[in-house]
Amino acid sequence: PMATTTTTTTTTTTRPLPKGMILDKDGKPCRSCNSGQAFAAWAAQTKKKLPTTPVKKRTDCPADSETLGRSTWTLLHSIAATYPRQPTSTQQTDLTSFIKLFSKFYPCWVCAEDFQAYIEREKVKAGSRDEFGNWLCEAHNEVNRKLGKPEFDCKRWEERWRTGWKD
Ligand code: FAD
Repeated sequence: PMATTTTTTTTTTTRPLPKGMILDKDGKPCRSCNSGQAFAAWAAQTKKKLPTTPVKKRTDCPADSETLGRSTWTLLHSIAATYPRQPTSTQQTDLTSFIKLFSKFYPCWVCAEDFQAYIEREKVKAGSRDEFGNWLCEAHNEVNRKLGKPEFDCKRWEERWRTGWKD
């Protein structure tokens, strides 16, 4: 049976959450941890009636896990693309600290926990643009494998993120 909560003005029915829905620490579905599709499915399920008019799809909504992920990888790989070929020791420690701190604040907490564990296993390599670009590409591939996405050929990371494709 479904749990029902009653207030003085409204009656809401608490429906079971879809399987695999990741929750925030407050027990609510985590927007930045789930795909937009999963989130929309849950949101539709919580509505009592189906809408009679088609729902206008907005593009200016809080980021789901995919929008957030794509934007973040774009930033990180672009940082790799502009990182010096011969960084100073300060730049190397700054970049390493940045990646570590970034991993603590990444809004998708499940992603963040796995990424922190990855950084513990595979220490950030910031000795040169090439070194960091490849390290980041491998880190991204680790997430790709986890999500069942194709692996990227890391020999081509610079073509993708700095020079543009040769062919
Ligand atoms: P994305 O994976 O976002 O990639 C964007 C583009 O980068 C691709 O189109 C491709 O051209 C290029 N690319 C792909 N692989 C590489 C590579 N190895 N090196 C260089 N370029 C590459 N989502 C989850 O659901 N669960 C998680 O645990 C999770 N962890 C994440 C951890 C981090 C640190 C980040 C930044 C994101 C994480 N994400 C996670 C989001 C996920 O990685 C994707 O960003 C999201 O699913 C959207 O995928 P996409 O197919 O659009 O391409």
